[in-house]
Amino acid sequence: MKQQAPSCNDPFETNAITVSEAVSHILNNTESIRQYEKLAIRECLNRVLHEPLISPVNVPAHDNSAMDGIAVNSRYLPESGSKVLKIVGTAFAGQPFDRPIGEDECIRVMTGALIPADVDSVIMQEKITLKSDTRVQVDSDNRKHQNVRFAGEDIKAGQAVLDKGHVIGAADLGVIASLGIAECRVTRKPRVAFFSTGDELKSIGETLQAGDIYDSNRYALYGLLSRCDVNMIDMGVVRDKPDELREALLTASNNADLIITSGGVSVGEADFIKTILEEIGTMDFWKIAMKPGRPLTFGKINDCHFFGLPGNPVAVMVTFYNFVLPCLKKLAGKTVSSPISFKATSQSEIRKRSNRREFQRGIAFTGEDGNLQAKLTGKQGSGILTSMSQANCFIVLPEDSGSVSIGDTVLVEFLEDYF
Ligand code: AMP
Ligand code: MG
Repeated sequence: MKQQAPSCNDPFETNAITVSEAVSHILNNTESIRQYEKLAIRECLNRVLHEPLISPVNVPAHDNSAMDGIAVNSRYLPESGSKVLKIVGTAFAGQPFDRPIGEDECIRVMTGALIPADVDSVIMQEKITLKSDTRVQVDSDNRKHQNVRFAGEDIKAGQAVLDKGHVIGAADLGVIASLGIAECRVTRKPRVAFFSTGDELKSIGETLQAGDIYDSNRYALYGLLSRCDVNMIDMGVVRDKPDELREALLTASNNADLIITSGGVSVGEADFIKTILEEIGTMDFWKIAMKPGRPLTFGKINDCHFFGLPGNPVAVMVTFYNFVLPCLKKLAGKTVSSPISFKATSQSEIRKRSNRREFQRGIAFTGEDGNLQAKLTGKQGSGILTSMSQANCFIVLPEDSGSVSIGDTVLVEFLEDYF
């Protein structure tokens, strides 16, 4: 897949690969981190399970009542009409009734109370008629096993409750706690080093000379990476000098699982990175049939993965969502899936060239008719970062689609769904 360094002036058709070809290549060349940490369960929130979580117990551990009412053996219930049963005791949650019951006897039960061995059904409070403190009338409208939660009904001992690669959320913490498990093995967080390249880049606080701009990519990348549960190594700005670039890349590769740079991959500039990577690692230069984000490099320095993203701020974000995120998910041991796409009615006219996939920045919202609508955030140039600030989605125009008129159906992918 090695190609000549691409440029924004190239005809995009020449040697261009599709977005999905690039993603497949990236995933096929990314290995999940093998190291794990054993952490107390609260610390496992948002982390990735390194092995399936096996339940050591049945949940619930014992048969218990799902209702307040009376518990009885269904054998003693009437087939028709009604019948009076004798109440011989009470079981509370945490305070079982520990004698067998006799013929035509029942006990009062509270929700969560253990069901004695010879009892199989619970009749809810609202469906009984108390005749006295010790006598209750029941009718024939009852079924065996009703209102009883049986041992192992939710989870059986030995069963895999959560899969390897599952990201532990709030409900999972509850599930893990319900099994009495105090610690889990989670995959070590990916370490991600990133820096910006460009002689024109100044840091906040410095004075801009003619032609200078403030480095914004590193801040946008910081924001994106913060959402990913990784350990970040921010390496600042590196000048377009081969020695400085080589040194930065080597340092990063010794300390990180993934390096992300921005800038310096378009024609002319790309030669620096190309020469250095040929020396210290391997790398593909791609022209991707997409907009924005056409030039992209992906490679490896020793065991460390490398993304050279384009310099334009919007292209940085679009390529991060589409290429870096799948790689990061795989590195982190997560199951990688594509974002869900929704059909929406376009409220904007959008011009589109065929044979490339376009990621227009959009705002999706529910229209007055209750259906999903989408409109552009405004100007869509790849340097116009405010188009991303306002967006909650990409309006994705696939390779084979043409221009869009108001009222046409478009595909929308919510930015949040990419993570
Ligand atoms: P390049 O790919 O290095 O030619 O950069 C393409 C465009 O993106 C140029 O206009 C750069 O000035 C701009 N650019 C590159 N890096 C950054 C950065 N870190 N922050 C803001 N703009 C940048
Ligand atoms: Mg540059």
